[in-house]
Amino acid sequence: MIAAEGISKSFGDTEVLKDIVLAVDRKDVVCVIGPSGSGKTTLLRCLALLETPSAGRVTMEGQVIGDGTNGPAVRRAAAKVRPDIGMVFQHFNLWPHMTVLQNLIEAPVLVRKVPRKDAIERAMELLEKVGLADKRDAYPAHLSGGQQQRVAIARALAMTPKIILFDEATSALDPELRHEVLQVMRQLAHEGMTMLVVTHEMGFARGVGSRVVFMDQGRIVEDGDPKDFFSAPRTERAARFLQQLQ
Ligand code: ADP
Repeated sequence: MIAAEGISKSFGDTEVLKDIVLAVDRKDVVCVIGPSGSGKTTLLRCLALLETPSAGRVTMEGQVIGDGTNGPAVRRAAAKVRPDIGMVFQHFNLWPHMTVLQNLIEAPVLVRKVPRKDAIERAMELLEKVGLADKRDAYPAHLSGGQQQRVAIARALAMTPKIILFDEATSALDPELRHEVLQVMRQLAHEGMTMLVVTHEMGFARGVGSRVVFMDQGRIVEDGDPKDFFSAPRTERAARFLQQLQ
């Protein structure tokens, strides 16, 4: 579905991603974990086409959509697939001046050219799904963090994306609100949504992930089955990371 083919990324003199190779298949739930500063968010932002890699390529269904040259052909390909890549951010990023319903129909109507009536119908289905149909006319500021994040997930789904990238979607939430967001993410995974999830939620990675990718100092150090990773990490670095969490 989407792949990083030897991606490196530098900010000034600092190389924060080093030759990352990662392929996400259809219906994969890839959980990216690792210490703070290891490059998880930067990798996700490269795949989301929010950062341009310094070297290497991002491909979607075999087509190059990001590379160091950022030439016109790549930019055209990127523009075409951008609506297929959903994003859920740590700080929700809902449009504050729009109601919940408006947040959900804006992009489908403007970008996908979905008729407004159909977009509203679909938005209401999605709000039902995340348990917030009664909040359709509320503004984001009047919702809890957990509710805002569930709206953000519904907004991503409203574009019928092929993949959703989650960037620490629960990190800004109080522990008691995390559960409701993780529950929605778990449901999506069970329904077969392709997901790449940067997370500190080891329970989610272990229980829901189809793969765990462990990063350290800009590299992928381990990439494998969550059960194996959590019960018997292959590297000393991952073992130490898991130990520190206990
Ligand atoms: P993680 O998500 O694993 O915590 P990040 O991808 O956020 O790691 O960051 C990796 C490194 O890149 C960090 O050292 C961070 O300070 C640096 N970094 C990230 N974004 C930028 C930027 N826009 N400019 C300069 N340095 C950055």
